[in-house]
Amino acid sequence: MRRVFTAVLSLTVALAIPSAAAAFSPGAPGLGDPFFPDQGNGGYDALHYDVAIDYRYDAQSLRGTVLMTARATQDLSSFNLDLRGLQVRSVRVNGRFADRSQAGQELTITPSGGLRAGRTFTALVEYGGTATPVVDPDESIEGWIPTPDGAFVVGEPQGTPGWMPVNDTPRDKATYAFAITVPKGKTAVANGKLVSKVTLGGKTTWLWKEDDPMASYLATATNGDFRFWKTTGPGGLPIYNAVDTAFGPEDQAAADEVLAKQGDIITFFSGLFGPYPYASAGAIVDDADFVGYALESQGRANYDRVPDEDTVAHEIAHQWFGNSVTLGSWPDIWLNEGFATWAEWRWGEEAGGPTVQDQFDRFYARPPTSSIWSPPVAGLTDPADLFTSSTYIKGAMALQALRVKVGDPAFTQILRAWFAEGRAQTVTTADFIALAERVSGQELSPFFDTWLFTAGKPVSW
Ligand SMILES: [Zn+2]
Repeated sequence: MRRVFTAVLSLTVALAIPSAAAAFSPGAPGLGDPFFPDQGNGGYDALHYDVAIDYRYDAQSLRGTVLMTARATQDLSSFNLDLRGLQVRSVRVNGRFADRSQAGQELTITPSGGLRAGRTFTALVEYGGTATPVVDPDESIEGWIPTPDGAFVVGEPQGTPGWMPVNDTPRDKATYAFAITVPKGKTAVANGKLVSKVTLGGKTTWLWKEDDPMASYLATATNGDFRFWKTTGPGGLPIYNAVDTAFGPEDQAAADEVLAKQGDIITFFSGLFGPYPYASAGAIVDDADFVGYALESQGRANYDRVPDEDTVAHEIAHQWFGNSVTLGSWPDIWLNEGFATWAEWRWGEEAGGPTVQDQFDRFYARPPTSSIWSPPVAGLTDPADLFTSSTYIKGAMALQALRVKVGDPAFTQILRAWFAEGRAQTVTTADFIALAERVSGQELSPFFDTWLFTAGKPVSW
């Protein structure tokens, strides 16, 4: 009897294992964004990344180690990270070596055992290679962009996997710590607060920590020859500034002058929208105008040249609208750019320039053939149109038209509620319309149809 019983038992166990394993399935390799369907991955929620990168200037190559802490949201047999143009050396999940494969931007990781839904796990990825910028549908470059003295590191909309394995979707915000190692004498600036700077054997490691949730496209690690300093803004807010030493004395002075206004701009927007969302602020002013744009990296805008005051106000406004209240899908880019442009105009008015209504009138005078009227602000269908003028100008004009329609007090309440309710989350255009109708008590669908969903110059609204 004993023998038979044992045999039955082991048969039961043998059957139970494959049937339990069958319940584990691969996490989705993409989240189906209309513009970047492979971006992001399913089956887990990234909580934190510990990023260590050693950048070799002579070879423009980087070696990195990323430790992601995540929570499984399904029973996972495998899961993906996004990584572009770099080679993985090894992967460990919960400390054990895991199988991996790379195809396109997908790094597929198969741990030795399944990961149960609800459990927290770690994935440690060692990787490296030559830093190659990512080219976007509009032919702009992003990611880890080598410069004569370092690298300009920007990630919108899909550049961050060009230097680290990451769940590259605005829908999965996480905290980050960065240890960026560069040759001694170079400066590396990432997001958050500077924790330490350690020099050892001809290299310096800059350790930065961002404790507020951040979308992957807002990560930075720009490095090179910089004049670097820390100052304080409103309420003792640390402001870290870095200005490329390659600029001549006139540009250096211009950079100092415009960066000195950051505190006042933060104070003004905090009064208007609600408290500044992060524990630090600042700017990286690089001599890299071949890049062709500035980016609102979280708490630390990257400028590819000495910016003007409008641009600084624009990137600071993004800390509320874009970085804290974040689009969940790229065709909704006007939720970032329309809001930041309106806020840039509002700061201009505060600083003694034209009023926001003056700006509206100036642009409204443009003929119906002007490129600012199309494509529809919230109806983008081509990823090459992400940063066209309509998402900025017509998007900002839509907000100003809304302000006139509902009145200034209701409009201010809408902006404040949009920030208060969307803080650290992702949002949609439909969310904004619903909120504007709720706060104003008005039925606004014809208005938004005209301003957001119709191509061409609005005639009546
Ligand atoms: Zn912008």
